[in-house]
Amino acid sequence: MTAPIIRQLAELRAKHSDWIRAGERVAVVPTMGALHAGHLSLVAAAKAACDRVIVTIFVNPKQFNNPEDLANYPRTEHDDAIKLAPHDVDVIYVPDPGQIYPGGFATNVSVAGVADQMEGACRPGHFDGVATVVAKLFLQTGAHQAFFGEKDYQQLLVVRRMARDLDIPIEVVGCPTVREASGLAMSSRNMRLSDEGTKKAGALHPILTALAARLSAGGVFADLKKQSEAEILAAGFEELEYLSLCSAEDLSAVELAQGPARLFVAAWIEGVRLIDNIAV
Ligand code: AMP
Repeated sequence: MTAPIIRQLAELRAKHSDWIRAGERVAVVPTMGALHAGHLSLVAAAKAACDRVIVTIFVNPKQFNNPEDLANYPRTEHDDAIKLAPHDVDVIYVPDPGQIYPGGFATNVSVAGVADQMEGACRPGHFDGVATVVAKLFLQTGAHQAFFGEKDYQQLLVVRRMARDLDIPIEVVGCPTVREASGLAMSSRNMRLSDEGTKKAGALHPILTALAARLSAGGVFADLKKQSEAEILAAGFEELEYLSLCSAEDLSAVELAQGPARLFVAAWIEGVRLIDNIAV
């Protein structure tokens, strides 16, 4: 059965009150829709951990620094509801824009530190948009736990920091990246690639994995980076925005993978910007 779609905060709050009165634990899975198996893995983790699951679908204009990207972002609400049906979620919250940004909205949630590099540097204002909407979704849903993908690892750390700093009583849970057979990280943006582009993009993950193996064997990032960058461009990517090795804890740049570290990449193919990251 498809879950009810709620568009008004007051209606969501009424459901939430019933659940809390019954002593139930509530999970939220924030998404921008165009759901794929990566999103559904978060839903499965949420179902396993909590009594009630709210999936939110909101294409948040405030986190798009590029108007074309916002205009091209897939919107597939009907299909999304069908994909969620077998997962037996309790509510799909698709807030009317005025429920998130009412007239006169003037507040900005801005996280420093983990939000400053990579996506934060390449997409000015992006993480302010993310932190602001996610803070609202945490407060609106009143969830005990929130499920986010490691696919957007920097976002996961930004959101966790925000919730801690603002004393929002929610646990932010990170879930592993779901990939295609080629290793390509599933993403709503992959829908915009041709078959050939999808095939070329499949080269990214093996290149990252090979670089991670060399780093784990004691390689120095500065010595290895150029070769991997050349491989990414040779695979058919038009532009590489960054290839970075960072501490998995605070995202500071590292040269040697001595503690927990991650490799991060952002690259363009067929005019589509893809990001990925893996543990080293
Ligand atoms: P989005 O709809 O792209 O904003 O993503 C919503 C949530 O799904 C975020 O927490 C993402 O990190 C997560 N997500 C997106 N792609 C994947 C994937 N391939 N594997 C796991 N989680 C994902």
